[in-house]
Amino acid sequence: MRLPPGVTSADFSAAVQEFEAAVGKDWVFTSDEDVDLYRDSYSPFWHEDEEPVPSAAVAPDRVEQVQAIVRTANRYKIPLWTISTGKNLGYGGSAPLLGGSVVLDLKRMDRILEVNDKNHYALVEPGVSYFDLYRYIQDKGLKVWIDPADPGWGSLIGNAVDRGGGRTPMRDHFDAVCGMEVVLPSGEVMRTGMGALPNSKTWQQYKYGFGPYVTPIFSQSSLGIVTKMGIWLFPEPEAYLTGAVMVPKRDDLIPLIAGMAYLMNSSIVMGTTSVSSPLNFLRPDGELTALRAKPGGPSTEDLEQYLRAHNMGYWSVELPFYGPEKVVQAQWEFAKQKLSTIDGVTFRDGKLHRFPIDPSEVPNFQNSVAVGIPSLSVFGVGGGRSSGHVWFSPIVPMTGEAVLEAHQVFTNAYREFGMSTGPMFFLGPASNYPRCFLILFGFPIEHDVAMNKQNRENFKRVIRMAAEHGWGEYRTHTAFMETVMDTYSFNNHVLRRFHETVKDAVDPNGILSPGKCGIWPKRMRKATA
Ligand code: ADP
Repeated sequence: MRLPPGVTSADFSAAVQEFEAAVGKDWVFTSDEDVDLYRDSYSPFWHEDEEPVPSAAVAPDRVEQVQAIVRTANRYKIPLWTISTGKNLGYGGSAPLLGGSVVLDLKRMDRILEVNDKNHYALVEPGVSYFDLYRYIQDKGLKVWIDPADPGWGSLIGNAVDRGGGRTPMRDHFDAVCGMEVVLPSGEVMRTGMGALPNSKTWQQYKYGFGPYVTPIFSQSSLGIVTKMGIWLFPEPEAYLTGAVMVPKRDDLIPLIAGMAYLMNSSIVMGTTSVSSPLNFLRPDGELTALRAKPGGPSTEDLEQYLRAHNMGYWSVELPFYGPEKVVQAQWEFAKQKLSTIDGVTFRDGKLHRFPIDPSEVPNFQNSVAVGIPSLSVFGVGGGRSSGHVWFSPIVPMTGEAVLEAHQVFTNAYREFGMSTGPMFFLGPASNYPRCFLILFGFPIEHDVAMNKQNRENFKRVIRMAAEHGWGEYRTHTAFMETVMDTYSFNNHVLRRFHETVKDAVDPNGILSPGKCGIWPKRMRKATA
């Protein structure tokens, strides 16, 4: 039997018995065969002893059972690692950060408690996936959209608390959260926001409640187990329209992004858009191959000329518009007017979709997630070139200057690592969050210990390199949480020290998700410092 660190086998057996008494024997998993299912499918530690493998998993069905599990964990000092559906691939999946932790699997708690299409919100439990909520809304004919994460099989709670992003106007998932129910490390149940007011009528309408606003401390956090969460939904819009903007020169990126930032910050464009260049996808012909083979590489003018000759812009963005048909047409017209000051800019009108759409139209969307329909098509990305990946995901300013600088810095780094940068600009820079860009780059995982070791070192180097330029990760795989937190070091790491103070006060036995985001409970801190 695998054991949690520092726990005797007698204590662990006693704890397992208590877990069984709380949830029933069928829902406590201790055999290697069962527990292996909770290993990270994209682990950067494949075939290495360092891989953090859980000791057991326990799957409650109700909040009282979660409370009982937490009380047992306190009694025997057993680390728990909470997952909702554990589909966090590229950031750790269902595996804990600390080997030997017991996975607290909440996917059986999958009740949709309310969907309101008058005030546009939902109240859900952790096991509710985007597919579940989408089907529920469709079956009931409700006029609201969800905002799915790219793969729709994950949960609303898991994704929001990890601060994932989507594509519609509700794309900043944590920003859409309104009210939580949380089991604290003591085992007590707390409701945040207006939920603290017994019989509140606005738990899902007003976020802040009274006094210090604590809901956000349960995101990327080891301070509580979220058992219910309110989330704002988007009223089904009348129409969705896209318009593409192409600019001919490399440096046109600067006015292009300035215009885009203006449109986004004034809520004229309210969905995710990403900047891309055909140079990242073009299948090179003889001419491009020859240019690339030039000593020192092609000049900017060479590339601009090549693209012009092939009728392509150097950069393009596709702007999404959501709302009444007349409004989205007017917004696109305004966007064109705003960007027309860029010399040589061209525009291409996209198709206008009206809602509700006919299901036969869904396959016509390159990415249905942009219109609130969950999908798994994102697994086509990368073309199966690696067996898995971990996401490097820095946030950079929404300016052309910053994107060009980031392009240069990361291109040089990846060239040094012997990796291509193509996928980076395939998945970003993207405006999943307001006012900034998210750049996503997948570092490959293989069944090759030496390669994974090297990639882990490269990953840590690129985290530090980004930090030197003032760019920090918004989220990271469990293997790199310590390294990322190290970079958030203002004033002698006061942020981490503050987190540790809170952690020790709220979770004195250090049972919840030890090590999450580089925050260790007191009893484990020395060993890891
Ligand atoms: P998803 O359901 O979207 O796949 P995961 O279950 O993989 O999400 O969890 C994503 C991250 O959020 C993990 O770091 C996990 O520890 C944390 N998390 C997931 N569910 C909860 C919850 N109910 N309460 C607190 N943290 C959670």
